[in-house]
Amino acid sequence: MAKILIVDDSRTSRKILRGILEGAGHEIVAEAVDGQDGVDKYQEFSPQVVTMDITMPVMDGLEALRIIKENDSKAKVIMVTAAGQQNKMMDAIKLGASEFVTKPFDAEAILKMVEKLSK
Ligand SMILES: [Mg+2]
Repeated sequence: MAKILIVDDSRTSRKILRGILEGAGHEIVAEAVDGQDGVDKYQEFSPQVVTMDITMPVMDGLEALRIIKENDSKAKVIMVTAAGQQNKMMDAIKLGASEFVTKPFDAEAILKMVEKLSK
């Protein structure tokens, strides 16, 4: 069982991810609604794995990823991407993202990533 932080401005996406992850016995330690909130909650809850949306208000997922990795180089961050975000995916790889998932969510793929990253 992994302790997970979900960062996404979409309430629907957060709900879907929570359902997938809790359904497999993982614990959602917190949800964050934008990048800044994600950075703050990472510090507060020290999750084993983060799911990070890219497009969010206040601070986007790339900037949040950069700050989280700067503070904790071992942070495990799964980036949530949408179609047409290849350039941002390249940036995320450079910033140290661990994995990528694309909406709509593939439950099996996400659970495999979380299991691998939380070992
Ligand atoms: Mg979004």
